Amino acid sequence: MKDFHLICTNCGAVYEGETENSKCKICNEPLELEEIRDGKIVQGNILSQSILNRYGEFYPYLQLSDEISIGEGFTSLVYSETLTESCGIGSLYFKNESENPTWSFKDRGTITGVMRAKDLGYKKIGTVSTGNMATSVAAYGAMAGMETVVLVKKEIADEKLKPIAIYNPKLIKVDGDYSKLYDESLKLGNEKGIYFINSDVPFRVEGYKTIAFEICEQLNFNVPDYVIVPTSAGGDIRGIEKGFREFRNAGLIDRIPKMIAVQSSGCSPIYKAFDDGRMEIERFQNPNTIAHAIENPYPPSGNQVLRMLKRNGGIVVSVGDDEILKAQKEMASIGIFGQPASATSLAAVKKLSSQGYLKEDDRVVCIVTASGLKYTAALDKHDLDIIEVKLENLKEVI
Ligand SMILES: *Cc1c(COP(=O)(O)O)cnc(C)c1O
Ligand SMILES: [Zn+2]
Repeated sequence: MKDFHLICTNCGAVYEGETENSKCKICNEPLELEEIRDGKIVQGNILSQSILNRYGEFYPYLQLSDEISIGEGFTSLVYSETLTESCGIGSLYFKNESENPTWSFKDRGTITGVMRAKDLGYKKIGTVSTGNMATSVAAYGAMAGMETVVLVKKEIADEKLKPIAIYNPKLIKVDGDYSKLYDESLKLGNEKGIYFINSDVPFRVEGYKTIAFEICEQLNFNVPDYVIVPTSAGGDIRGIEKGFREFRNAGLIDRIPKMIAVQSSGCSPIYKAFDDGRMEIERFQNPNTIAHAIENPYPPSGNQVLRMLKRNGGIVVSVGDDEILKAQKEMASIGIFGQPASATSLAAVKKLSSQGYLKEDDRVVCIVTASGLKYTAALDKHDLDIIEVKLENLKEVI
């Protein structure tokens, strides 16, 4: 492992690699690993190679080992001619992150987070989540043989709780102000020797770079014009953008796509700030949306997403629940079943193309962040056609 630093995304303060802070001591904004300047792809057989082996040169600050891999990454990039045409753009692709081991992109950041925990000598890991991140951390904690603490809010539905419990973590329902749990868990973790791999901690964000790496390779290094990312805490979009930066540094691509963060209008603190021209988010009051996976009313990386987008030239959009549900069904029409949060990306394409922001020759990638099977309650919101018939009458309806 070489010497490395973490840098404050806001004030530029520099921290030594061994720091366990995820935020700046001076300004309380997120830290980020310094950019890799000279990485290379390690060519190999991707049927047997792990993502962290293939892209290992972009992770010189981790002791990489394949022992805890359960097959994260190398997800499909699906092109749809039908949706390209109906959206009236140049080409539309879907990066299908539901193909990950626990059916969401979170696995990419969980594995780098677990490696960091091991490098620091931790025996225990944890997370605060109500959904995809909890499942992911529980699964990787089990694979790594580490005690794993998962903190969820008291009101969590059984449908979500049991798929976390199956991995046998120390699963704790917490009664109280959920928004205080993020900071509280990091503090308690320090005292109790638990490494909390929360939503936007620097080593989780690092794992998300591989989404950008794969998109570049899948498009033969001919980068898209836009990448659309359903955004809550802001970790995913930050990681993806950093991945493109590092591939550009390495000379593998010549430009970085514009990043588009999409939020649900029922919980859109980053969109509101962007729309008002503010560089600081405010807590979103009374969030209410079908897209629960992106329902963070006070995203810890919200300000950094605004700063990143300003540098990158990207934008933030918001879409309503009706647009989200329509997009979920349209995505299913090409065989991809994403959860409502994931369908916001297609809803955003439709909105931006009808507003004339996206043009007829633009090449766009939607990130399908997680599987629709993880939130089947959303199916009740759809008009779904089901035919019932007696066996002897089957011939008439088939
Ligand atoms: C976590 C999650 C997001 C948002 O990612 P952030 O890193 O919190 O911005 C989007 N969609 C799904 C399905 C998620 O689980
Ligand atoms: Zn700072």
